[in-house]
Amino acid sequence: YPLFVVEKLASSLIDPFFFRMEDEEGGTTTTTMMEEDREKRRENIVVLGTGWGAASFLKNIDTNKYDVTVISPRNHFVFTPMLAGASVGTVDFKSITEPIREVRYVEASATSIDTTARAVSCVSVSCEGNTCETVEFDVNYDRLLFSVGARTTTFGIPGVEEYTNYLKQVGDAMQIKNAIVNCFESASLPKMTDADISRELTFVIIGAGPTGIEFAAELLDFIEEDGSRYYKDLLPRVRIRIVEASSTILRPFEDGLKNEALSRLTRTIEIPGVPKFRPLEVLLNKQVSEVSAKYIYFKDGDRLEYGMALWAAGIGPLPLTTSLIEELDGTMQRNAQTEFARGRLGVDPWLRVIGGGGRIFSLGDCSCMSNTPFLPATAQVASQQGEYLGRLLSNEYSIDVATKSSSSTSLLPPMVIDRDQPRSFSERIASFTMGDDEVAAPFQFLDLGILAYTGSGSALAQVQVAPGRGDPTSETWNPVRLQIKGKLGFGLWRSIYLWKQTSPKNVVLVTLDWIKVKLFGRDISIL
Ligand code: FAD
Repeated sequence: YPLFVVEKLASSLIDPFFFRMEDEEGGTTTTTMMEEDREKRRENIVVLGTGWGAASFLKNIDTNKYDVTVISPRNHFVFTPMLAGASVGTVDFKSITEPIREVRYVEASATSIDTTARAVSCVSVSCEGNTCETVEFDVNYDRLLFSVGARTTTFGIPGVEEYTNYLKQVGDAMQIKNAIVNCFESASLPKMTDADISRELTFVIIGAGPTGIEFAAELLDFIEEDGSRYYKDLLPRVRIRIVEASSTILRPFEDGLKNEALSRLTRTIEIPGVPKFRPLEVLLNKQVSEVSAKYIYFKDGDRLEYGMALWAAGIGPLPLTTSLIEELDGTMQRNAQTEFARGRLGVDPWLRVIGGGGRIFSLGDCSCMSNTPFLPATAQVASQQGEYLGRLLSNEYSIDVATKSSSSTSLLPPMVIDRDQPRSFSERIASFTMGDDEVAAPFQFLDLGILAYTGSGSALAQVQVAPGRGDPTSETWNPVRLQIKGKLGFGLWRSIYLWKQTSPKNVVLVTLDWIKVKLFGRDISIL
């Protein structure tokens, strides 16, 4: 910490902006002038969303230089990697959220953006007593950060929206927790037939990506560790089915780790006083064609009865993103989109929206960078982009790029400033937004690896230690990856998730939740 303070002080003393003022004013003190200068030019940044990208941007943007307003229907940040745990009671909902309050916050959804008038149209709900009404209003911006994320996509399959659960928000996790407990409670009712019990206790997870697999692992833990305290007689009847349209699970992981995950998930469960049982099966190459209140139908003609179903099969663009693409120069936008990222807002390597005149920035799941390898829709990408953009606009540049003596402790690449032509803050920002690419280094994603929890105190970690050769999007690109699994992977998984919490409060709460669950088990109260 003392080193960090010294670094910060040193970097502010050698800020090139000070140099310029000293040259022009012949060595007179410049602090007051500089502050006045900046004050006059204070711009208004409107941030849409309170997710990973926005939260990271807000941590890094200098609020002395900008007026920042956040618009989002959600007044808190959610640590999404722990939503699966929250949906079975491994951690409390409150422990993985953090309110957004240090800047001006408007609880509303953006409905459209007028890029000519630089205004965001919003809708909110205002209530007095039991009467609620919809309120519509506009918010003007000098610069806009479009970070609204993505939505769960149903691929137009009938019944998915009506009958399955999603796992994206805290509200979804609460609903899932209640649905699981309700299935067990219904199966415990008198006069239930065998067929009814089997149906109630069949949990179907559609999508075998990291979200689907982690949810399955948490559900299995709940059944193994706490099931016998509440529903001992029912346990051997429980069936968990992971359904996947492709031929593999956990696509981003190497084969060895996929197999490890499969063997953990399909393990036989032994609980004293309960016959051994193996509740989980993975069904590959199964495409869902329709969902009804009782059945999931597949394209091959099969069907599966279920008590609760989770849809974790992919994400797609929000209508607001699609309409902004059309509002901007649609053709330019479409040309910028890679084959993998249809429907996402095209940005340049400095995160400026293509066709947005340098006024609009975008990051995270709603955007894709043109002319660069496709970046996955992950929290890791969104938060690195948020940090990059926050620092970029806050003018936190590296002074000496050649030696990479960045003034920041961040892992992100340094931002380049043209030292021969020092400019005022506003000039620099203007030239940056006009496309003067010399001013700042483009965003570069630093791949820190991927993690997945696989249940019963084991997890997978895959860390890239050396890049492959050639094109990272091609099949032949073969980087060197370190694979960690089992208890070691679990230790790493827990440590990283604690380290990544947004505040010390969340670190304490999550740790206490883990201890609580170890000592007293999960809470199954229906809320
Ligand atoms: P989000 O975090 O989705 O935030 C979008 C924000 O925009 C939200 O606040 C939303 O309320 C707001 N918004 C939406 N519509 C509007 C509107 N009209 N107007 C204003 N605001 C709006 N990634 C990893 O790297 N590692 C993991 O382990 C991992 N696990 C995950 C587990 C789950 C269950 C889920 C759902 C995701 C997981 N991800 C993980 C992915 C990661 O959460 C996303 O990639 C990340 O949230 C993207 O960040 P974002 O800022 O783009 O969008």
